Amino acid sequence: MKQFQYTRPATQQAALEAITKPGTKFIAGGTNLVDLMKRGVTAPDKLVDINHLPLKSISQTPNGLRIGALALNSAVAENELVLQHFPLLSMALQAGASPQLRNMATVGGNMMQRTRCTYFYDTTMTCNKRAPDTGCGALEGVNRMHAIFGANPQCIAVNPSDMCVSLAALDAVVIIAGKKGERRIPFTEFHRLPGEHPEMDNHLGKDELITGVEIPENSFAKNSYYLKVRDRQSYAFALVSVAAGLVISDGIIKQARLAMGGVAHKPWRLFDAEKSLIGKPASEESFKQAAQIAMQGAKAYQYNSFKLKLAPATITEALKHAAGLV
Ligand code: SF4
Repeated sequence: MKQFQYTRPATQQAALEAITKPGTKFIAGGTNLVDLMKRGVTAPDKLVDINHLPLKSISQTPNGLRIGALALNSAVAENELVLQHFPLLSMALQAGASPQLRNMATVGGNMMQRTRCTYFYDTTMTCNKRAPDTGCGALEGVNRMHAIFGANPQCIAVNPSDMCVSLAALDAVVIIAGKKGERRIPFTEFHRLPGEHPEMDNHLGKDELITGVEIPENSFAKNSYYLKVRDRQSYAFALVSVAAGLVISDGIIKQARLAMGGVAHKPWRLFDAEKSLIGKPASEESFKQAAQIAMQGAKAYQYNSFKLKLAPATITEALKHAAGLV
């Protein structure tokens, strides 16, 4: 591993000043960044350790819940307010990684984690995300884990997070600090599709810091479910995952939220499928129709065509669980 400098600024302001130097990165739990450094995928000159900044709290606001960027994944998953108001977030967090990793990983770090595309981690292979304009090794390679939505020949990688899928479904907002002050981005707009710049995973500026996430109050707690399909029961990334939330009254769907993971470069919100559910009975038939709508525009590659069947089946099953039909 390349040698690097380490600093531990005392304040958020000092952290923001430290990050302006080229080759500098923030480090919190380090559960992804340290792996990337060990493998030579990234080689920062300096790490700015933000672990001690006061960004760990989970608190109620007049409109919902605010979660600090340094709150641990395990702390959020077990938090009483989260369990009571946003069980979908807790389910998604519990589905991710392993207990040890959840005890180290932070909310902000989870949002910033990089794809698990094996070609990205293997520095002997071509990868536009790791080294722009070198090609995409996965395009003609073993692309079983890769995208079926929003990809292009530049990059067909997927975002690996479970937590982010639930936050996209819950209309969360990302709170960001920069030298010019605070700004907010809807969670669904924080991560980006590869476009012409697959090296960029999100819209966070190089000199900005995620300080927290806010989730607006909603009525999905009673009927929500996170379903993750993976190769083994734990410590595996999603082949496909679905976050589903419903508001049901007298058997009729009044509101719906749906997002998928393991299918795109960003958490993939299913707006059209959600709309199709409003006013329909909370039945398997309605859920199957919504799943078909969700799959419009899907495109598979050589080894991941199974996702074209797995994804709608997972949407249907997640909605059945959310509605209490299974
Ligand atoms: Fe790199 Fe993206 Fe291609 Fe994977 S899919 S090799 S991350 S460019």
